[in-house]
Amino acid sequence: MKTFKDLGLSEEILKAIEEMGYENPMPVQEKVIPYLLGEGNDVVALAQTGTGKTAAFGLPTIQKTDIENRVPQTLILCPTRELCLQIAGDLSDYSKYVDRLKVLPVYGGSSIDSQIRSLKRGVHIVVATPGRLLDLMRRKTVQLGFVKNVIMDEADEMLNMGFTESINAILSEVPKDRNTLMFSATMSSDISRISKKYLNNAKEITIGTKNEGSKNVRHVAYTVHAKDKYMALKRIADSNPQIYGIVFCRTRKETQEIADKLIQDGYNADSLHGELSQAQRDTVMQKFRVKHLQILVATDVAARGLDVDDLTHVINYGLPDEVESYTHRSGRTGRAGKTGISIVIINLREKGKLRAIEHKIGKQFEAGVIPTGTEICEKQLIKVIDELEKVKVSEEDISAFLPEIYRKLEWLSKEDLIKRMVSIEFNRFLEYYRNADKLESPTDNGSDRRDRSDRPERKAEAGYVRLFINMGKMDGFYANQVIELINHNVRNKRVNIGRIDLMKNFSFFEVAEAQKNDVLEGLNNLDINGRRVSVEVAGAETSSPKRNSSRKSYGSSNRSSGGGGYRSKDKPSRSDRGYTSPRGAYKGKDRKRSDEGGSSSDRSSEGWARRKPNKR
Ligand code: AMP
Repeated sequence: MKTFKDLGLSEEILKAIEEMGYENPMPVQEKVIPYLLGEGNDVVALAQTGTGKTAAFGLPTIQKTDIENRVPQTLILCPTRELCLQIAGDLSDYSKYVDRLKVLPVYGGSSIDSQIRSLKRGVHIVVATPGRLLDLMRRKTVQLGFVKNVIMDEADEMLNMGFTESINAILSEVPKDRNTLMFSATMSSDISRISKKYLNNAKEITIGTKNEGSKNVRHVAYTVHAKDKYMALKRIADSNPQIYGIVFCRTRKETQEIADKLIQDGYNADSLHGELSQAQRDTVMQKFRVKHLQILVATDVAARGLDVDDLTHVINYGLPDEVESYTHRSGRTGRAGKTGISIVIINLREKGKLRAIEHKIGKQFEAGVIPTGTEICEKQLIKVIDELEKVKVSEEDISAFLPEIYRKLEWLSKEDLIKRMVSIEFNRFLEYYRNADKLESPTDNGSDRRDRSDRPERKAEAGYVRLFINMGKMDGFYANQVIELINHNVRNKRVNIGRIDLMKNFSFFEVAEAQKNDVLEGLNNLDINGRRVSVEVAGAETSSPKRNSSRKSYGSSNRSSGGGGYRSKDKPSRSDRGYTSPRGAYKGKDRKRSDEGGSSSDRSSEGWARRKPNKR
């Protein structure tokens, strides 16, 4: 393997990149740097983002700059303001020890006057978005007559964004005897047309296979019913507690809706799309970069230029319209030698589109199986234990409180303590997933298994009777609620409760035969949020039990003095539940949110999570 020194770089540059931790050149650098250090060498480089291309073009460009001549000698064009700032920042780092070298980013959305003033003072390298550069050219405030190198970064993105005309206009003003270098993640017909038009005998350098996604990325497809897409997303996130990823949506509206739901469900997430102001987008991107956010829900356009190297997951919430977009999306993970996972959550109708993507990336999608509640709980448990092991203890700060803490906990054994500590976080998942349905995979013949009211009648255990209740999971009604409802409303008795079967709109539960009448008496005609509870012996046709004429309030009859009985309206707050999102969730209060009315998918069988914001 060659070293940076072997590639012919100067001492100043070697010193700077060594400080940045670059030990060996990445493949694109090994191929491009020596070539660009020579003269008159045009290059089309097909390389995914994250392969080290900024240094590949940046280092030789810096080295070849004539510092004494303070005019633009290199022009770097890129699609977005974020990428522009990123490249300019990298070049400044690389040229830390190159005295007096000036790099200027010019991009829309910030003061043109200060950019003009900097240009007047003199710069060597201009990094520009095409629109702003054209503006400066029209104002005759930028001089391109001495440009010797033109670099087009993410050229395919610039074309996708409609910059073809602008690029033509810019290149016609740059001297013909220049070096031109074009970087693109994919080789499309447009790219080869531009390359033929503007590059001379360009050398084609391909890192990896043409149009292939990164080698380090696994591609996994989860096929679910359309109504289950959001649930599938949550389960994927829950089964990857350390997730640091982008969820791509197709529209701004969908982006905002999914982000809103995730935030409401207690995830450390936020949205990034074109309806946010530049300042809001900057804030979100910064939070994501520094990992104050774990999940960024974004549109393709808004996420362009967001340069983050260590994403664990890219999640396609549905497939993009263009196959190329998939390559770009998935290219955001598995960067800089790391591994990553690109997930698609699709419904049956979208399945056909997968073939086109597989063809493009030259890989097949693995068929993903949505994790079960038990699997998720196990993953979360391991995460809690890991955190417990690794938590930093500030001996000095905590020591003053320890005697009191020890005194309070001395009656607990080590095993009890461990169980309790772990349960603080783990219970949320356990409780939520205890009753969650297994997500069913849709079959190719499109059959969709419904809530089975046609189940064969189940017999109660000996000594028990099976009762029907007109409340189900859609009402946020789970085993805990059934038990609580009975215990709070059956007078002066501890009811022996047997098996509980929860359906979407109704449920069955068994109680001791001898207590049947007390339960019917206690529960019938209760009022839960305006709905009258009806309980009857399962299978008994119209033998409706004796009803009280007056409605009672749920939980009112037998509440203990502690007052803790659950009422549907009482949503536990974050603090009640002791929940804090990882690294402190950004709730984005200043951000515009779409209405919280909830879509049809909110009324899914996992709707409980929506009613109790901190449960997932
Ligand atoms: P890029 O494709 O230019 O966005 O680079 C992707 C990431 O790889 C950036 O964080 C670079 O700082 C990093 N990088 C580039 N070249 C090297 C290298 N030779 N060794 C280690 N990291 C590198």
